[in-house]
Amino acid sequence: AKAQGKGRRVTYAPCLDQHSAEQARTAADLRVALDTGQLRLHYQPIVRLSDARTVAVEALVRWQHPERGMVRPDLFIPAAERTGLIVPVGQWVLTEACRQAARWRDELGPDGLEYVSVNVSPRQLREAGFAAQVQATLHSVGLHPRHLTVEVTETAVFDGGSGLEELHQLKRLGVNVALDDFGTGHSSLGLLRTCPVDLLKVDKSFVDNITDRGDRSVIAEALIGISDGLRLRAVAEGVETEAQAGVLRRLGYRYAQGYHFGRPMPAADLAAHVRAAHPA
Ligand code: C2E
Ligand code: CA
Ligand code: CA
Ligand code: CA
Repeated sequence: AKAQGKGRRVTYAPCLDQHSAEQARTAADLRVALDTGQLRLHYQPIVRLSDARTVAVEALVRWQHPERGMVRPDLFIPAAERTGLIVPVGQWVLTEACRQAARWRDELGPDGLEYVSVNVSPRQLREAGFAAQVQATLHSVGLHPRHLTVEVTETAVFDGGSGLEELHQLKRLGVNVALDDFGTGHSSLGLLRTCPVDLLKVDKSFVDNITDRGDRSVIAEALIGISDGLRLRAVAEGVETEAQAGVLRRLGYRYAQGYHFGRPMPAADLAAHVRAAHPA
């Protein structure tokens, strides 16, 4: 196609077509998956760094495909986002996670898990009435809003539309808001002051190299400084080693998440994990 010169369409169209056909197929499959119960939630511990105690969990969606096996969210969330299917998928995730959180309140008691964190995509957040839907969901499963955190990305909040207004409404309800993948977006830090955010999730890319020699931990240090200065909570993401956890503690981080503390797991395993670590 390159031989045909500057015609951009000619160069890229076949590739795009293939891509969108693939996406359409994934989206159609996903619709079936949603309707026939192929989606699952796994939960990953969010721990307090001082004692590695699990204080909360992040819900992460999984697709148990009859032929393809376990499909990773990276492979279908983007397609769901583009086709709009993320709205019903996201609503399913929200309901399921809140229902599970309510069960854990009963099973593990008030000292169990502080909150369950749910990823909300830009498209979902901009959907009119999103906050009202969250409220209805919490009410229907009997979960107090303070036990729910919604994770949004900087792009979802600052790229215009009604995202910011929906966040303000969620705050008024008492739901907590986390900024996901913090540090990787392109928002102005000044906006953080006016944005209704309670928690920053510091992206794994700033945790990866902090134990190397040199100034590798300088960004992780700057980000906890911003978080403290704004009186926000911070969770360091993607912690894979005790050495990383040690550096983070030294930098003043209080919360972390990552394979070192626990992989995403089914709800039943998570309860056992919490109980084994902290016998009543
Ligand atoms: P995320 O929200 O940044 O979630 C963290 C991802 O990092 C998860 O991947 C998690 O399994 C992985 N992870 C956690 N600790 C470690 C670690 O120590 N090392 C490494 N290498 N990875 C770690 P996962 O579950 O594959 O999800 C990928 C992305 O898909 C998520 O990134 C999120 O953007 C999206 N996603 C997952 N579930 C949902 C959902 O229910 N709704 C929406 N809208 N997006 C979701
Ligand atoms: Ca997340
Ligand atoms: Ca993240
Ligand atoms: Ca991510």
